[in-house]
Amino acid sequence: VIGVSTNDTELETAAEFFELFKIPWERAVPGKRYRVVLSTDGPTVNLNTDLLLAYGSEDRIPDAESVAAVEHTSGPVDVTWGDWTFPIYGRVRLFGTGASVLACGGRPVDVRRCAGSRVTHRVGYDLFHEIRHLLTEGQPPSRAAVPTLELHIGLLRHLLLESRVPFAEIPPRPDGYDFTCCLTHDVDFFGIRRHKFDRTLAGFVARASVGTLADLVRGRRPLGDALRNWVALLSLPRVFLGVGPDLWQPFDDYARVEEPRRSTFFLAPFKGRPGVAPDGTVNPSRAVRYAASDIAKEASAASSAGTEIALHGIDAWRDEQAGRDEIGQIKGLNGRKRTGVRMHWLYFAADSPQKLEAAGFDYDSTWGYNETVGYRAGTSQVFRLTGSEGLMELPLSIMDTALLFAGRMRLTEDRALALCKAIVTNARQLGGTLVINWHDRSLAPERLWGRCYRDLLKEIGDGNRVWFATAGEAVDWFRWRRSIRFTIEPDSDRVRVDAPPGPAVVPPASIRVHRPEGGAEIRFDGREPVTV
Ligand SMILES: [Zn+2]
Repeated sequence: VIGVSTNDTELETAAEFFELFKIPWERAVPGKRYRVVLSTDGPTVNLNTDLLLAYGSEDRIPDAESVAAVEHTSGPVDVTWGDWTFPIYGRVRLFGTGASVLACGGRPVDVRRCAGSRVTHRVGYDLFHEIRHLLTEGQPPSRAAVPTLELHIGLLRHLLLESRVPFAEIPPRPDGYDFTCCLTHDVDFFGIRRHKFDRTLAGFVARASVGTLADLVRGRRPLGDALRNWVALLSLPRVFLGVGPDLWQPFDDYARVEEPRRSTFFLAPFKGRPGVAPDGTVNPSRAVRYAASDIAKEASAASSAGTEIALHGIDAWRDEQAGRDEIGQIKGLNGRKRTGVRMHWLYFAADSPQKLEAAGFDYDSTWGYNETVGYRAGTSQVFRLTGSEGLMELPLSIMDTALLFAGRMRLTEDRALALCKAIVTNARQLGGTLVINWHDRSLAPERLWGRCYRDLLKEIGDGNRVWFATAGEAVDWFRWRRSIRFTIEPDSDRVRVDAPPGPAVVPPASIRVHRPEGGAEIRFDGREPVTV
């Protein structure tokens, strides 16, 4: 067990950190003997330990460093650890000399000292400040590509392994899989037929005609795609007369591409309601042209085939009663007891977690970026939203419009896939989830982002063991992982691992045992306690 010496205000963050880096820990008891103590605050004199991992940017341990040699710098600043570079958002302490794992501008950010039998490893930043910042403010788009929180976990794991401390860990992925992937679709349109003579139709006509020609000339679209768009354009009169099939039929379009994988659709509750923006304004173009109840038949059919139906929230992020009303429109369409949510246009505020939890949502999946892809919270694991008792966030990793839309990054397919590939590579190494949002009309004319989507699915599956889960299933798995408990047997290196059995559909977890003489991995489904 690792002792954690921290102050009361950081304890909540520490507890969440050790749900993500799931290892046995307890708040350090003064005088009690530990192999390792992680200290981020408070006195270190009464700590009885062989290895002291002392994080912090302030002067704290006089024996670790001559204070004269120390400088400080304020974040955000990049530090390097092996091949990784990650940002520190708060203060960083730069040491004068020392064998260093972490560096910032060529200066060591950590230092290791031996005094008698005790090893002290000083790391010059405030770990739980950083974690709290990631889980509340999140990362700016400029740092989106870095799984920063996972690297804090990785560094701590590295320091434990380097010190040859044995410990048990529950990795953030089911046993036998590399990571979890959730295919999700925000439904903003549901049929072009609903858009007679409006902005959406005007945009469609412009992009399917002249825009497509321009793309063809610039080499951004192959001829086959251009022809498809022109055929679609010519079919519009028949579509609007009701004699031709609608161009946008998301449930069918996605079922064809994704079979046998199942996905999650986020449906808007009300037609014609734009809601209120975080700056208090109302933008009429945010309103959608369908209500969930208009497509109840299609949604129920998809739900019977295993699709999860969740809410594409309008005002739930800012108003608890609105959240209840919006849930009410989705209830009955999905097979789940409770409803998950992702906000339209990714609206969110600091007090949204309390409001969403009070309204009764099962989980949120809004934490992503409109303008880029990556890790808003620095992790792709499901985490508890700060400010809520237990509302889980399934962070969004990759969104089609961020990559491909003219007003966003507008990447070529090759460049978009290259960015996604880096995220897939990280998922293989780090576990967690890969949550993709490909919008309801994106496979159809005039976007025709289906090839890119298929290539992305191929990239995800290629050589990886992937658990394709609906959003709610992924959240349930991580919630079950959180319920796993460690009990330390007194005066021994043995730990008992125990949990209520997982729901039947959920794959088991595994216990990774790190030992200096070599590790082991044990399947764990919660039916029987396991002692390691
Ligand atoms: Zn939307």
